[in-house]
Amino acid sequence: MRVQLSKAFTFEAAHALPTFPEGHKCRRLHGHSFAVEVRVEGEVNEQQGYLIDYGDIKAACAPVRASLDHYYLNEIEGLENPTAENLARWIWQRLKPRLPLLSAVCVAETCTTGCEYRGD
Ligand SMILES: [Zn+2]
Repeated sequence: MRVQLSKAFTFEAAHALPTFPEGHKCRRLHGHSFAVEVRVEGEVNEQQGYLIDYGDIKAACAPVRASLDHYYLNEIEGLENPTAENLARWIWQRLKPRLPLLSAVCVAETCTTGCEYRGD
């Protein structure tokens, strides 16, 4: 049985998006309550009946979350242009080594937007 599981975490952070057109609201310094959904995919161990302990996903996400929460994202190495797209890839690159089953990282800046990254 092949399944996909998801685990979410949130963090608060500020950013400004320097590549948007002059005068665009996203160029101004502002903040979001970011919501991140992390997905893993794989074959269920039939003996165990589960793919992975959600607690293991949470533990893998903890240091990534800690490095983002209440920071000005533009000051973080690799996030000089912290769009949702770049942020999803940045999180992926840090999670994948700890979470080999990682299949997608979804970043939402607001309740009505979202960006899904599944690796290159
Ligand atoms: Zn924004």
